Amino acid sequence: MALSVLENIKPIFKTKCPIVVYPSSGTGAWEAALVNTLSPGDKVLMFETGQFATLWRNLAVDLGLEVDFIESDWRHGVDANVIESKLKEDSAQNIKAVCAVHNETSSGIASDIAAVRKAIDQAKHNALLMVDSISSLGSLDYRHDDWGVDVTIAGSQKGLMLPPGLGFNAISDKALKACETATMPKAYWRWDAMLENNKNGFFPFTPATNLLYGLGEAIKMFEEEGLENTFARHARLAEAARRAVKAWGLEIVCANPAEYSNVVTAVFTPEGHDADAFRGIVLERFNMSLGNGLGKLAGKAFRIGHLGDFNELMLAGTLSGVEMGLAAAKIPHQKGGISAALAHLVDE
Ligand code: PLP
Repeated sequence: MALSVLENIKPIFKTKCPIVVYPSSGTGAWEAALVNTLSPGDKVLMFETGQFATLWRNLAVDLGLEVDFIESDWRHGVDANVIESKLKEDSAQNIKAVCAVHNETSSGIASDIAAVRKAIDQAKHNALLMVDSISSLGSLDYRHDDWGVDVTIAGSQKGLMLPPGLGFNAISDKALKACETATMPKAYWRWDAMLENNKNGFFPFTPATNLLYGLGEAIKMFEEEGLENTFARHARLAEAARRAVKAWGLEIVCANPAEYSNVVTAVFTPEGHDADAFRGIVLERFNMSLGNGLGKLAGKAFRIGHLGDFNELMLAGTLSGVEMGLAAAKIPHQKGGISAALAHLVDE
């Protein structure tokens, strides 16, 4: 079972590289990526796309890495031009890794990872590229090999449609090479022990067997639908959700339409209207739990998730809950969001 799951998961990452699977949350997989490739005091470049980029930065700092955190407004994705100029300035090649969150779940922003790869190449820099695809994998097109990603970090509980509890690292040859000389302390997260055991379908410790069975089923679901059809479904549902938000006259957190996330839409409540009070009313009246604003967006925004095993009627129900909630919470808005969304779903 392990051998087939470890092989069949590769097309979802669009890779031929080895993938290790930990019984862990996504945070564990973040840590595994860093401790296997880096040494204490190494410099890493990270970009502030939202709460999860910030948490990854905090984890890197706690591990003793020197982080250059490029600040941003939580409304834009990774700026590849800034990455390129930072790398060009680093003529001594002190930066060992560039870390980016593909889909920032807190702000609903999908960054252009191919552009980040291009920036590293243009700067002729040797830094590793590490990408968090925790909330994008299986919902957005993700290309570990084509984009030259060295470590992809993923988790089970989002696009893979499973409960939490599996953390993934897809590992390039270059990252494996870096692992040979990396001196960060590590034990549980060691890639070498994991890869050695995986060759025969074993693990160096007890795997999350039940979740691996689930993963096998999730892979079958992707195979049945066809990965590109899955991405198209999320694009269609996400666009319908955004049309509803725009028709209500509310503002989407992501300021650049090219970076809209097809996984989650984060929406500002109007000035003076607490997003958590609104969420509370929706929960109380309609038994529907909207995502909260995290970190800097706390109380200012709510999130509509449309990832994973999700379809037209689930979206229609969700948007109905939001529209009724807006009225119940007396949040100024225009009617017609639901019709705008449904029209898009039928037109397509
Ligand atoms: N990165 C992203 C983009 C996430 O959405 C999350 C969780 O929501 C994490 C990292 C952290 O993962 P976990 O909570 O599984 O440790």
